[in-house]
Amino acid sequence: MSDAVVLGLDVGGSSVKYRLASATPSEGIPEALAQGTVSTPKHDPVAGLAAIARDVTALHRLVAVVVGIPGLVDEASGTVLRSANLPALDGLALGPALSAELEVPVGVINDGRAAAVAEARWGAGSRERDVFTLALGTGIAGSHIVDGRVVDGAHGIAGELGHVVVEPSGARCACGQRGCLETVIGAPALRRAWNRAGGHGSPKDLLSAYEAGDARAARIIERGAAALADAILTLLALVDPGVIVIGGGLASAPHRIVERAAALVAERATFHRVPAIVPAILGKWAGAVGAVSEARELAGCVVGASAG
Ligand SMILES: [Zn+2]
Repeated sequence: MSDAVVLGLDVGGSSVKYRLASATPSEGIPEALAQGTVSTPKHDPVAGLAAIARDVTALHRLVAVVVGIPGLVDEASGTVLRSANLPALDGLALGPALSAELEVPVGVINDGRAAAVAEARWGAGSRERDVFTLALGTGIAGSHIVDGRVVDGAHGIAGELGHVVVEPSGARCACGQRGCLETVIGAPALRRAWNRAGGHGSPKDLLSAYEAGDARAARIIERGAAALADAILTLLALVDPGVIVIGGGLASAPHRIVERAAALVAERATFHRVPAIVPAILGKWAGAVGAVSEARELAGCVVGASAG
């Protein structure tokens, strides 16, 4: 069994990150036997991902794979319900199809959730048993993780802090509601607000202007911080997490929003216990680490099931 390995794939719009680890559980982060990046197979994703898995594990005995996908995933059936970046995956029963190709169990997980699990188990949340992770980017994703496991509600949709309404008569959100947190501090919303105020460029330019003392930028940052503080106070009242971990592709751009929101939360909190709000630390490999960590669990489950 010592040569048995598990594979985590983090599938992005242009590249796939992989991490190979021993199937044997360890105390710390699953050590990488191999790790790297290859191009995303666009046309025949099942054959393409199977080829990547075979290449990477050629010298090993593969026992389980978990694939992180950017999109809506039904984890129970291993089906990709919708993926904006990878339309070839839409509606595909990816888990069963890859499992048939590779002849090992294959799990499918949302990529943000994989990264969140990694941060909670091995990263910035590892000292607390009750962790809430928030990924700020184009969209805003949240995950509540207790003892290393996602608490996702009766229908798998809990943790969607990006769709908590903070401005009831605000802009229409992609989800259909008005004034979700995402419509205020999602990257496209920040860009729109900045451009409407006469600024040029992206949220990064907004941040530079703010640092240089621009009053228009300050108003946008302040509005974003107030919205994020509202959402976090709601989170504290409902979930009472031990730590909030903030990551995501744009975590560096609105970090002033996060800082200012943390100050507002501290001012406004009454009965709430205000936890530390800390940046994610695993960086771009978090998704692959989470996927390989889940693959280990999957291998464990399968071994356990056949033994029992
Ligand atoms: Zn929404």
